[in-house]
Amino acid sequence: MGIYDDLGVRTIINAKGSSTRVSGGFLSAEVSRAMADAATYCVDMADLQAGASQIIAGITGAEAGIVTSGAAAGLLLGTAACVAGLEPGRMARLPDTTGMKNEVIMIRSQRNFYDHAVRATGVRIVEVGLPDRVAGAGVRDAEGWEIADAITPATAAVVYVANGNARPALEEVVRVAHGRNVPVLVDAAAQLPPVSNLKHFIAAGADLVAFSGGKAIAGPQGSGILCGRRDLIMSAVLQTLDLDIEWSQWVPPPSLIDKDRLVGLPPHGIGRSSKVGKETIVGLLIALKRFVADSDESRRVIYRSRIDRLASQLGVARGSIRDGLIPRLVIEIPNAAEACLRLQLGNPSVYVDASRAADGVISISPACLRDDELDALARRLREVVG
Ligand SMILES: *Cc1c(COP(=O)(O)O)cnc(C)c1O
Repeated sequence: MGIYDDLGVRTIINAKGSSTRVSGGFLSAEVSRAMADAATYCVDMADLQAGASQIIAGITGAEAGIVTSGAAAGLLLGTAACVAGLEPGRMARLPDTTGMKNEVIMIRSQRNFYDHAVRATGVRIVEVGLPDRVAGAGVRDAEGWEIADAITPATAAVVYVANGNARPALEEVVRVAHGRNVPVLVDAAAQLPPVSNLKHFIAAGADLVAFSGGKAIAGPQGSGILCGRRDLIMSAVLQTLDLDIEWSQWVPPPSLIDKDRLVGLPPHGIGRSSKVGKETIVGLLIALKRFVADSDESRRVIYRSRIDRLASQLGVARGSIRDGLIPRLVIEIPNAAEACLRLQLGNPSVYVDASRAADGVISISPACLRDDELDALARRLREVVG
């Protein structure tokens, strides 16, 4: 509370999960300490990203990787890499994509708010497939042949939004795209846990994968990972680094940036506004190491104990437990939307997952709850839910 009291800002009980709107979760003491340590020295930022690349490559199985300021920043940098390649002139001209490959194919049912980050590079999104199965009108979604059909000489990439429900399978999209020499960029922002997904999309053939660092990895809120093909990661990092330096003075780390492949140094790129600080890079790396060192099961047990404690305080009749890697407490009440507002506006302020409030469902996530908040949360739920 301390610092927020000083600032005159109320804190909230976050029973919603790691959404950006509610400031994500919180950092472990180990990550906070690492960030504080990082803040007390200076480094060459390219060297730091090269170090990050080795760690991320080891953990994801990708050739290279960088820390970004979020998964959305990863989508922007990844798209910019697919469009500009290693040509500094192109990097300099973005988001003017005149004369470049400037179309990105997306499956229509996968369009979402975050593809703004893709469009910010100046590309046009070409939608494929009719999401009949989403509309309830039929059974099909986009198919591989439709992606193949949409590929033209202007296609810079296929952007694929991973989730358990996505169709066609990523392997099929990769097969079609690679058959035409088109890279595949995967938005896997929220696909953790399981830990195994850190390797899964790369293993399935994706050229670039963006993860959020502020969600399950429990890194800094404004952090993420972009990993994948070495040439694309090199392009991505060049478009976000501070490059205000003479060519002759520039000695980038060869493991991340191969100077011999460049004809010159681009000016600050399109990703400069999504720059990431040294504390964030270090914090993400420590959180990532911890995320892979702990097991999905050990995290599930901790989450489950929080949910069980809440459920027992509320009484079984009021909530049911939905099990999973992140178990949830699901409460069904007729006036769910109003209840969510009352929780939010009460004292202490409680934010729950209200995404299904219109269906009379409130959902509680244990992921960003502190153990010392559970009693107050249970009390507020009893008061509001009845
Ligand atoms: C959360 C999310 C993002 C954005 O992640 P940030 O790390 O907050 O930038 C992008 N795409 C999807 C599908 C997400 O769920």
